[in-house]
Amino acid sequence: MYNLNVRIKIIFLFIYFLLQASIVQASSVQEIGKEYEITANKITDQVFVLSVAWSKTSFINSAIVVGDKGVMLITAQMEPVAPSLEAKIKKLTGKPVTHVLNVASDTFHYHANDYFKERGAELISHSELQYTQASTQILFDRKFSMQFGSELVTATYTRAHSKGQTIVYLENSNVMLLGDAFRTDKLVYTGYHGVEGQLSGFAQAYEIANDQTLIVSGHKGERLFSKRDALKQASATLSTFSELVGKKHKAGMTLEQMISDKDLQSAVNIYPIYKEKPSLIQYNIKQLIGTEFTESNSISDSALKTYVGTYQSDKGSLFKVDLVNGHLFIKEKGKFLFKLTYMSENKFYVWKSSTESFYMQFHFSSDGKVIGVSPKIPEGSYWAPIIATGIRQKL
Ligand SMILES: [Zn+2]
Repeated sequence: MYNLNVRIKIIFLFIYFLLQASIVQASSVQEIGKEYEITANKITDQVFVLSVAWSKTSFINSAIVVGDKGVMLITAQMEPVAPSLEAKIKKLTGKPVTHVLNVASDTFHYHANDYFKERGAELISHSELQYTQASTQILFDRKFSMQFGSELVTATYTRAHSKGQTIVYLENSNVMLLGDAFRTDKLVYTGYHGVEGQLSGFAQAYEIANDQTLIVSGHKGERLFSKRDALKQASATLSTFSELVGKKHKAGMTLEQMISDKDLQSAVNIYPIYKEKPSLIQYNIKQLIGTEFTESNSISDSALKTYVGTYQSDKGSLFKVDLVNGHLFIKEKGKFLFKLTYMSENKFYVWKSSTESFYMQFHFSSDGKVIGVSPKIPEGSYWAPIIATGIRQKL
């Protein structure tokens, strides 16, 4: 295992590339030991929305709920930000952080979990965060609810965007936090529950909210607060865009042609960023083609069941393979959770691009039983230092 600093650097590089691929011309990656500028928006005496500046144009949002003895921090942010965040909270409330609630599994939601835990906070996360590098304590599956001071805090699981994605709703202050499941500046990336999962997430959030709810996304983007109509608009935009990508892909249009396609451009015209930088849309097109419109070979549920089980390496690392809604998922505690796409009896992709692929290779006994699995990770990928190579034997 590599040390924390290396891990932080890897995560920063990862996030840096994500940001580069998006709106931000970030001049520098986050620095350890630096002070971060944090803007507080007071909603009620009990609730503040805090925006941490990553650069002049990029802000990541947290919220705090002030209780009787301490503060609940929603979205822990990255660890180097934690001292600035802690100081800001102390200044605003005079109270320590006693609870941390993670909105989802995107790193910025949980990276500082340990920092606050070491200072006495309790961590509350969706159970899927066990399969990330997040430090976790209290776990929930479908719904978490807690009265904190005068505020009722509810986190509801949704199949949108990311692993362990939740809709956090602060009922009395009427504030909703959605992480990356909603963006004001561009299309959201759908997670492994696809466009359908993302659209169901928008619908769920719309139902929980009312016309006065202040909706806050993980990144500030175009604006800090949105009304729930913006969820309808984002949902319709994604739905239309995805359908168009499917049609054009089926008709044989190349990525280059799609980037400059008038229909696709006008489908996303609620987001000014694609007018400024039309080529940015390629990431969403590529993602949709990969997740929604790539033919995969088919396999029956009963055949998929033969892969389900626990696999162990000689070093003790455990992979678990589950079957959920007709899809195989593979996971390891403290590390990863991936959806597997069937290609052949011994090959399931984690992801695949035109140049490289990350897949799980299954091994069989001479009488055809699944006996093991080996991860095949592209060299230099984000996952290469995290997941050890080698075979895991089925138990
Ligand atoms: Zn994200």
